[in-house]
This record gives sequence, structure tokens and C-alpha cells, in this order.
Amino acid sequence: MGVQPMTKQLCVYCSSSDRLDPKYYAAAEAFGRAMVSRRWGLVYGGGRTGLMGALARAVTSAKGRVVGVIPEFMKQKELAYAEADELVTVATMSERKAIMARRADAFVALPGGWGTLEEIMEVATLRQLNVLGKPCVLFNQDGFYDDLLRLFERMIAEQFNKPSTRELVGVASSVDGVLGLLQRAPAPAETKWFETR
Ligand code: AMP
Repeated sequence: MGVQPMTKQLCVYCSSSDRLDPKYYAAAEAFGRAMVSRRWGLVYGGGRTGLMGALARAVTSAKGRVVGVIPEFMKQKELAYAEADELVTVATMSERKAIMARRADAFVALPGGWGTLEEIMEVATLRQLNVLGKPCVLFNQDGFYDDLLRLFERMIAEQFNKPSTRELVGVASSVDGVLGLLQRAPAPAETKWFETR
């Protein structure tokens, strides 16, 4: 049986590291299988290392569709997932993020480092500005994002952010929980701007 037709594209940001606890690769693989069973296609950074590679291989094994968007310099270092159904080669990291954001219907961050954080925060910021109206969800596996969520609460308490920003980024601690949150139509964000004094 060939690759299944997918209804929607899910952009997943996640770690490129090959040195993580095995539980993170297992969860990325489970996420890949579950997203295919719910007919999501994968759009991601096109890497073959870390959780990125584990996720992409799981999607391929489950007969899902993988679209990788990778900068030329990473491809030259042989970091690309060559088995992707489509590999889009771009010149810059910014171009890569723009293509992933345009092609995706929703965004998820699995555990990751700076790259993952930067990517999910960019789409969350675009949600906050109502530039983007697509769901964004953090997979808080084993409380990985608890400290970040505490920082978000401090931002609200000290009025760097509005309380309504809580509605803009979904948080779930299980694979099914994450995929369930993606079914909800996102409400438009309250205006980002505070009243001037
Ligand atoms: P990090 O969370 O710092 O490991 O970065 C992961 C994110 O940054 C991914 O979603 C990719 O878009 C990008 N990235 C960083 N390193 C790589 C790599 N070696 N191969 C492909 N993409 C990478």
C-alpha cells in the first residue's frame, strides 16, 4: 500500500539531538504514528537526526506523507531525511520557517532546544498578532515545558502579556491530548496591545 492521502498538514518542531533519553524518541515515534492515523501529513524541518528523524521515520513507516523543508547548508552536511516524500531546499532559516508556516494547518512543538523554542514562539507570536489563525500546541511530555509555562504566567502577572495569551498556545501532556487540541477551531486573539496611559 502506498502513501495515504492526508487531509491536513501538521508542522512539528522538535529536537535535532541524538543524545536524549530514549523516552523522547519513543514519544516522537508514537506521535508520528498517531498523527498518521488521524490523517495528518507532516511538514517539518527535514532533518534525519534526533526527534526530527524519529518522527519522520515513524510517519513514513505508518504510510504517512512527509514534507521536509531544509536549508541548503544543512543538506550539504547530509542532515536531510532523504526518504521524505518531498524535500524543499531553501537558502535560509527564515525562508524555511515561512514555508513551513504557510504549508501547515496547525503547529506542535515536541520537546526541543533553542531551535524548537524559537520556531514555536514565532508562530505563537503571529497568533497573538492575529497574523496567523492556526492552532499551536506544546507537547508537555513529562513536564518538559513546565518552566516555560511558569515564565508565561509571570509574563501575565507582571503585565508583559495579557491573560488571554493563555488561550493561544494549547498544552497537553499526552499524544492523544495534543492531537485532540488540534481539532478545536482557534478563536481570534484579543488585541495584543494594552491601552496606553
Ligand atoms: P533544536 O531544538 O535546537 O534541536 O532545533 C530543532 C529545530 O531547529 C528543528 O525544528 C529544525 O527546524 C531546526 N534544526 C536545528 N538543527 C537541525 C538539524 N541538525 N537538522 C535539521 N534541522 C535542524
